[in-house]
Amino acid sequence: MFAVVACRECLKKRVVDLNDKSSTCPYCGTSGPHKNLKIYFQSDDQSLVRAALRQLTGFVPPVEKKQTSDADPYSTLEYRYEHCHSVDEKMRVLAEGLTAVYGEFTFEDLEKIEPKHAEKYLKAMLVEGYVHETKYGRYTA
Ligand SMILES: [Zn+2]
Repeated sequence: MFAVVACRECLKKRVVDLNDKSSTCPYCGTSGPHKNLKIYFQSDDQSLVRAALRQLTGFVPPVEKKQTSDADPYSTLEYRYEHCHSVDEKMRVLAEGLTAVYGEFTFEDLEKIEPKHAEKYLKAMLVEGYVHETKYGRYTA
């Protein structure tokens, strides 16, 4: 009987023959009995056990980086704002985006994104409840 076990010292997984009572880890040289090791997979067919080991150790796909998490929140906000289709969407993106960038934002911060209608948007965002004023001239979503 063969099995995939994890070394109790270095925790690396390896294949052992359970007919042997003990073995030595090829990675860290620790030897010890098999009976207390955690068994991940076992079979009489050694090739199945080796395949299981490969799956357990080798075939973990690398975590893909999300592009958006690399971009800074300000360019993300500008990009999203340019692609808004409705006034409602614009207010939502502004409220979320400015809060993400500044925590609390000011009228001037809003004006950088929306130079023409900043005042109109700020008023509407307050009325619609997208943002609220935390103290004079400071807003947050
Ligand atoms: Zn080891």
